[in-house]
Amino acid sequence: MDRDERIARESVVTAARDLDAQGLNRGTSGNVSVRFRDRILITPSGLPTARMGPDDIVPLAFDGTHPAGLKPSSEWRFHRDILAARPEIGAVVHAHPIHCTAFALCGREIPAVHYMIAAFGGPNVRCAPYAPYGTAELSELALAALKDRNVCLLANHGMIAAGATIEKALWLAVELETLCWQYAVALQVGAPNILSDHEINSTVERFRGYGLNAVDKG
Ligand code: 13P
Ligand code: ZN
Repeated sequence: MDRDERIARESVVTAARDLDAQGLNRGTSGNVSVRFRDRILITPSGLPTARMGPDDIVPLAFDGTHPAGLKPSSEWRFHRDILAARPEIGAVVHAHPIHCTAFALCGREIPAVHYMIAAFGGPNVRCAPYAPYGTAELSELALAALKDRNVCLLANHGMIAAGATIEKALWLAVELETLCWQYAVALQVGAPNILSDHEINSTVERFRGYGLNAVDKG
């Protein structure tokens, strides 16, 4: 493993730990991948992040093959399929955050209750229908829910965020959990107002120059 690969692997470990530290994941739920040269560097299956190091990260070819003795995340299919289908995406984060997952358990998409939804590419965040974890069917449903978006919910499961960089994917994951939390509380307060598609589309444009978008165009 050369220096650049070690740095990329460390960024995957750091992101996986960050998801735990920010309360987006617990135990062994969730996984992280990053595009590296002609491969995907992905977290191993079922290993708590506290025990995860750069040597545990699995280099996965786009045909799904990997070195013997390593076990990639059970969700390698949707990580691989998103990175294969979307050349602008460099990293994928999957998590089971409480508020995202609460809406996913109800199979509910997130409407434009806050302008921040524009950060995800459009006026809603879709919820992909349920399919068992780790399956090609789940990957296909997730890809459809991610059309023109960089995040989606997965029914009865969790969420996915995809960004140009690992920092961007993490940022999107945190923003989506925040939005779902706000929406959940607003539903208890009353009936949230929904912003128009026109309003959100113009905010999508303004977001192109905001924060990490301005530096990595993701
Ligand atoms: P892995 O430990 O295999 O990555 O699975 C966690 C998960 O969230 C499955 O959906
Ligand atoms: Zn999961």
